[in-house]
Amino acid sequence: MRILVCISNVPDTTAKITFTQADTEFNSAGIQYIINPYDEIALSKAVDLATSTSGSVTVINVGDSSTEPTIRKALAIGADNAVRVDAAASDAWFVANQIAAYVKENSFDLILTGRESIDYNGAQVTAMLGELLHIPSVSIAKGLKVENGQAQIDREIEGGKEVLTASLPVVIGTAEGVAEVKIPNMRGIMAARTKPLEVRTAIAIEPLTKITSYRSPAPRGAVKLVDESDINGLVDLLHNEAKVI
Ligand SMILES: Cc1cc2nc3c(=O)[nH]c(=O)nc-3n(C[C@H](O)[C@H](O)[C@H](O)COP(=O)(O)OP(=O)(O)OC[C@H]3O[C@@H](n4cnc5c(N)ncnc54)[C@H](O)[C@@H]3O)c2cc1C
Repeated sequence: MRILVCISNVPDTTAKITFTQADTEFNSAGIQYIINPYDEIALSKAVDLATSTSGSVTVINVGDSSTEPTIRKALAIGADNAVRVDAAASDAWFVANQIAAYVKENSFDLILTGRESIDYNGAQVTAMLGELLHIPSVSIAKGLKVENGQAQIDREIEGGKEVLTASLPVVIGTAEGVAEVKIPNMRGIMAARTKPLEVRTAIAIEPLTKITSYRSPAPRGAVKLVDESDINGLVDLLHNEAKVI
């Protein structure tokens, strides 16, 4: 089975997010980048599936050369080879079109993404890929089995679980429950240095959206301590100031 895993390069979850250029640009100075955590789940599942079917795992990222350490980490986790589409990921439409163009030239049985990126949280690329490739797309997968050319996907729905099947090829957006995240070991890190990483020129596609500004959340107010005997004061603050009751 040939599996493609789409990898987004995102700021570490502990990074302090700030903006520059009058709040029109994300300030990447000093930011540590990681593989999008949902993509790590997808990659870990892909490595298991490829191992059990003598298949292969390719990872793809749309990004400039600064994303290569993240791509090498994906290779250390167990991907066989990698592709970087050399362009700034300027919106979800742009990203999905770049990945679809690659898939049209290199067929895959299974395309895995994360359920969403943890930076822009668009949750759009998975469905766009399905549409662009004219194949089914399913998200948010909490469980995944692949047998006899069929994917079985578990999803959580209000009050229960939904189980559905789709014939391969299919695009699946993965979440917690699909696989235990794999940690790269020393052997994997060494092997990753020499695994193939193809750099591909982007196709000409105009982004459909443009971020015009960012806004940080309002700073948190000071904590107010209420004496334990002052129940009426507490209720008053919750009702009139915090407006939560
Ligand atoms: C400098 C800069 C400028 C930007 N300007 C804009 C803008 O003007 N308008 C706008 O809408 N967005 C903009 N973005 C956001 C950027 O385009 C997002 O990476 C893109 O929109 C996809 O993120 P998402 O949250 O929509 O992905 P989602 O749809 O939430 O991601 C789902 C899955 O798709 C895959 N995926 C996502 N991104 C990539 C990627 N780059 N390579 C490979 N796989 C990927 C991953 O598997 C991910 O888990 C900008 C980003 C940068 C860095």
